[in-house]
Amino acid sequence: MSSTAPKFTDLGLSEPLLKAVRDQGYETPSPIQAQAIPAVISGSDVMAAAQTGTGKTAGFTLPLLQRLSSNKGVKVSANNVRALVLTPTRELAAQVSDSIATYGKYLNLHSTVVFGGVKINPQMMRLRQGVDVLVATPGRLMDLYNQNAVKFSQLEVLILDEADRMLDMGFIRDIKKIIALLPSKRQNLLFSATFSPDIRALAKGLVHKPLEISVSPENSTAEKVTQWLTAVDKKRKPAVLTHLIKENSWQQVLVFTKTKHGANKLTRHLEAEGLTAAAIHGNKSQGARTKALASFKDGRVQILVATDIAARGIDIDLLPNVVNFDLPNVPEDYVHRIGRTARAGNTGQAVSLVCSDELKLLWDIEHVIQQHIERQTLEKFVPINALGESRALKPLKAKKLKKPRTEKVEHKDGQRSASSHTSKQRSGKAQTGNTKNTRINKSKRSSYVSGK
Ligand code: AMP
Repeated sequence: MSSTAPKFTDLGLSEPLLKAVRDQGYETPSPIQAQAIPAVISGSDVMAAAQTGTGKTAGFTLPLLQRLSSNKGVKVSANNVRALVLTPTRELAAQVSDSIATYGKYLNLHSTVVFGGVKINPQMMRLRQGVDVLVATPGRLMDLYNQNAVKFSQLEVLILDEADRMLDMGFIRDIKKIIALLPSKRQNLLFSATFSPDIRALAKGLVHKPLEISVSPENSTAEKVTQWLTAVDKKRKPAVLTHLIKENSWQQVLVFTKTKHGANKLTRHLEAEGLTAAAIHGNKSQGARTKALASFKDGRVQILVATDIAARGIDIDLLPNVVNFDLPNVPEDYVHRIGRTARAGNTGQAVSLVCSDELKLLWDIEHVIQQHIERQTLEKFVPINALGESRALKPLKAKKLKKPRTEKVEHKDGQRSASSHTSKQRSGKAQTGNTKNTRINKSKRSSYVSGK
């Protein structure tokens, strides 16, 4: 394989997979794909640092399907799974599941996806016959395991996708519990936007002699993203955002707020200004989120206002503008947020509206990304409360693993397990989920990878 211009046909993929890739119109493998595909096919454990937008999903899905389909003698028994993909959010789970369906359409493998916030019973039914690939969020997977709906004795491959995010969201206990249930002989793949010290600590107990792949320097923000910030008074943020969108005729803008309430309020403000906007956050039903995302993707809605958790896994090509209406509390979220733009070789910009209260958050972000974000002044909006100076950058140090953070949103949606909730309580809550969720689940997200 030439390292300068690798081709999909050089990577060891079978014809049904190459055909599916051709159907997608991909001409050349992305750098992560060129490295990860042969590594995974070889059976090695892999640790890959790659942000969303680098093509990482195909980077693990294609070789996974290759391995599973080449081992023809294996028949998966009832409730068993051969490969488990863990993701932090249901949106990402659904997207990974869609990718598996897309790339596996000419194979005779069976896959399904499970996540919280929707009824558990249909998921239990789908697991009954056993599946080759199960994509799951950790909380719901534990619920299913506790109800004997899933077994791991035939498990061959474990994939942690967006592992850094899973740690940030407090899934470490669930992940450790799940790992303890798996057969010790298995292949482990760990994908993460960054190789933070926390991820390395997790990897120690997980991967064996892994091949390390990194398509961007540690904690680097996507190179093609133009980042800048403007100092503003807190109260004027909505006006500044409206000004930027109208003045620059931004057609598609993803805006991040810290809270669900903030997302709703801002959406109302933008609508009152004659703009089309939709909010996407954990209090919205899965159906409402899917609808908002679809409207945003096809251009009916110009502005999508999202909280970090809801936005994780959003996959939109050519997303030109990301706005941090509020800076995130967790600096790594900044990296994830701006990773939404400049995807798949395109350029984009990430703009942060920063008020004086957020100076400490800005320092933390600049420390994590190891660069100062360029400041631009908007003449009309010079703040009364000036934003303090950035600090000199110090090198990154290893830090201790964070304690699980309680994300009420995710508990409410039943996405992750909480020790204070019994499975019954949680699944009971999930039962109240709307019927649309189930429909999406049945018709789109889960099914046979191939119709055969
Ligand atoms: P991911 O990083 O997996 O979220 O993928 C980001 C986007 O890139 C998705 O929309 C993929 O469909 C697209 N993509 C993945 N691989 C390729 C490729 N080799 N060439 C062009 N686009 C790709």
